[in-house]
Amino acid sequence: QQHELIRQEKLASVGQLLAALAHDLRNPLGVIRSSAQVVLEGPQEEPIRQEMARYIIDEVDKLSLRLHDFLRYARQKPPDLKAEPAEAVVRAALRQWEAQGGHERIRIEQQFGNALPSIQVDPEQVKEALMNLLINAREAMPEGGTLTLTTRAGPGNKVEIEVADTGSGIAPEHLSRIFEPFFTTKAYGTGLGLTNVKRLVEDNGGTLAVTSSQGMGTTFSLCFHPAS
Ligand code: ADP
Ligand code: MG
Repeated sequence: QQHELIRQEKLASVGQLLAALAHDLRNPLGVIRSSAQVVLEGPQEEPIRQEMARYIIDEVDKLSLRLHDFLRYARQKPPDLKAEPAEAVVRAALRQWEAQGGHERIRIEQQFGNALPSIQVDPEQVKEALMNLLINAREAMPEGGTLTLTTRAGPGNKVEIEVADTGSGIAPEHLSRIFEPFFTTKAYGTGLGLTNVKRLVEDNGGTLAVTSSQGMGTTFSLCFHPAS
């Protein structure tokens, strides 16, 4: 128990360090990105410059996503609960994800249930959880595939949100580890995305489940209480 306490304290101070670092890196990254944007939009006589500028912007965007994982891991906020239709949260997440690009080869299917009760959640936090799942789905389908977003009635008047992809799937021996902080199978992954998803969903009174089949795809289901 003493041991567990020390471990918790260590994790907390590592978290603070990460938050400070991530925060410090955000401003210079923003300056690099907007400078590259200026070069990108400048005179076209040397195409290599445009190519390099594009490269800088893409890499900065990747870094920013990683920083966001770290910041969210380190900085917890209590949810600001209100009644919100699940469909609206899913649509907002989808819009934000589509704005990042990289989904050109992915077919998107939306199956929204009729007359579902609103859910009692912090819409920003649930949107962020869904965004993480959508990013993972995109990364699991580099050659394209189908992304299916579903809302439906769950047990006990609850509402279920499902994010399903037809990507690589998760190896059985990895399935029990995917929610562990820093567990990743990606060369440039943080392993914090699903850790954050789980915490966000549970902070919002929800539950999270996953099923996956290698080579077939992965489905994450989130279940939330209805607003009364
Ligand atoms: P990261 O994306 O940085 O690797 P995550 O916590 O988001 O970290 O995911 C942890 C691991 O779970 C991933 O590295 C990957 O192996 C696996 N994973 C998560 N989502 C999916 C998915 N939709 N399809 C296949 N594997 C997934
Ligand atoms: Mg991820």
